[in-house]
Amino acid sequence: MTTPTETVTELPPGRTRAERMRQPLAADVVAAVADQHGVCIRPFTMEVGDPDTGELRYVPMPCGSTVESVCGPCARKARALRMVQCREGWHLTEEPTFNADDPTVEQRAALTSRADLVAHYRDALHNGRPGDAEELREAIREADDGLRQLGVRGNLPSPDSPVKRPQKRSTKRRQEAPNLPTRKVSKTTLGREFAGRFRPSMFVTLTCDSYGRVREDGTPVDSNSYDYRQAARDAVHFASLVDRWWQNLRRVVGWEVQYFATVEPQKRGAPHLHTALRGSIPHEVIRQVTAATYHQVWWPNHDQLVYSGKWLPVWEPRIKAFVDPDSRQPLTSWADALDQVEQPAHVVTFGRQVHSKGILGGTDQAGRHLGYLTKYLVKSVTEIVTQDTDAQRQHADRLHAELSVTPCSPRCAVWLLYGIQPLGVTSRTVPGQCKGRAHRRATLGLPGRRVLVSRKWSGKTLADHRADRMAFVAQALTAVGIDKPPQDTSRLIWRKLAPGDPHVPPRAHLLLQAIAQRIAWRAEYDRALLAATGSPGEHQTPATPPIAA
Ligand SMILES: [Zn+2]
Ligand SMILES: [Zn+2]
Repeated sequence: MTTPTETVTELPPGRTRAERMRQPLAADVVAAVADQHGVCIRPFTMEVGDPDTGELRYVPMPCGSTVESVCGPCARKARALRMVQCREGWHLTEEPTFNADDPTVEQRAALTSRADLVAHYRDALHNGRPGDAEELREAIREADDGLRQLGVRGNLPSPDSPVKRPQKRSTKRRQEAPNLPTRKVSKTTLGREFAGRFRPSMFVTLTCDSYGRVREDGTPVDSNSYDYRQAARDAVHFASLVDRWWQNLRRVVGWEVQYFATVEPQKRGAPHLHTALRGSIPHEVIRQVTAATYHQVWWPNHDQLVYSGKWLPVWEPRIKAFVDPDSRQPLTSWADALDQVEQPAHVVTFGRQVHSKGILGGTDQAGRHLGYLTKYLVKSVTEIVTQDTDAQRQHADRLHAELSVTPCSPRCAVWLLYGIQPLGVTSRTVPGQCKGRAHRRATLGLPGRRVLVSRKWSGKTLADHRADRMAFVAQALTAVGIDKPPQDTSRLIWRKLAPGDPHVPPRAHLLLQAIAQRIAWRAEYDRALLAATGSPGEHQTPATPPIAA
């Protein structure tokens, strides 16, 4: 069989090797065309079986990457959706409504089986069957994914959490309240209206503290005095600090302030926060709340490494615990270490720089800030924190080295380096080796979630926003007589194929199939748009059909 790819490679070869090397690879050409048409360039394959006819089809599914250098079309589509979400919530004039559906039979059944798994898991833990416990934990994780796919929102308590010990020093460990005047928080989430028609909202930027002076390229003026430890710990706990900021802000202004925020690295590698915030708040209030907000980390002290290099604690199967390699004495358990905590291991605060400005909905300024807020969402951390020079690479290396010895959670295997057994420790825990994002060279401690959206922002989930867009397109098509009734696909059997599966068609085939579909769809959509407005659609951004304003 002759495939379109093979046809391309059969073009006459250049006479010299250099000439040949300049000719684009067929796969690259197909990917470039896919990119131009807004079609995912790295799709995975679903096998779709029709039990009625016995027919098997292979369907490309978008990779869903949010990083443009990985897949441009998917990343641009994801960013466009985030922009819609941000725009819809920013200047809302009516309270968003939530009408949660009653739980379905499937949802109830899934929840019951999860509860069973948790009971078995605890049983395995308490009766010393760590292998079983590990497997059950994995099964619980899968059950949670399943519940999410069934459309259940929110998080269920972790199977390890409720077995809390009574805390002896609970009063000492409470987060101290910031020194701010507070009010009762009313239910409203809307900003005030001025002069009967203006409803300004805000754009705010918060940064981390200073760790030492930095140059224009983000590298320290004096790398010996730059506080890498503080920088690493602040990055790990930045998300908690931001949470406290919202809590404090709401208490001070007295209403449920809503936000759409993005976390990005600055050139120096420290996270900072840009946020769209609904409603208007005086700059002085924002400044005061920022100055008064801090987050105390009530973890065991981790200033002095106890183990390093090849001298590491070892697992002792008889007592199911890590022991000192010389004395064979068990290391301090997490619970005991917590009991001994007298003061916070770390305190995070914001830097002194606070920018805030009022923004009116529907203005050019609002559009510009929307672009600004979402601009870097399509870039990976290493693409933003450039490492072009030796000084920049050294700076990132130093920060990464510090992050490698900074515990990221109570379950983090880094605790073993400080002579403490992390929560949930097993024979498979490797001292100092934690898979948490905080320790990776590529993320430099940045939190996994780069977009933080409050619950009552637009009153819609991303899936709702996506459905809105599809409904809008369907409506436009119906208006010109192109009816696409939703097909009943419930009888079809979908199966995701692993990349190495022999049934996976060559990527070029999948891409060409998707491009053809896209072109057909686009032609229909242009006809609809032409009929509606007298002008065809914007061809520059085929991946993102316009949204109902
Ligand atoms: Zn993709
Ligand atoms: Zn960790």
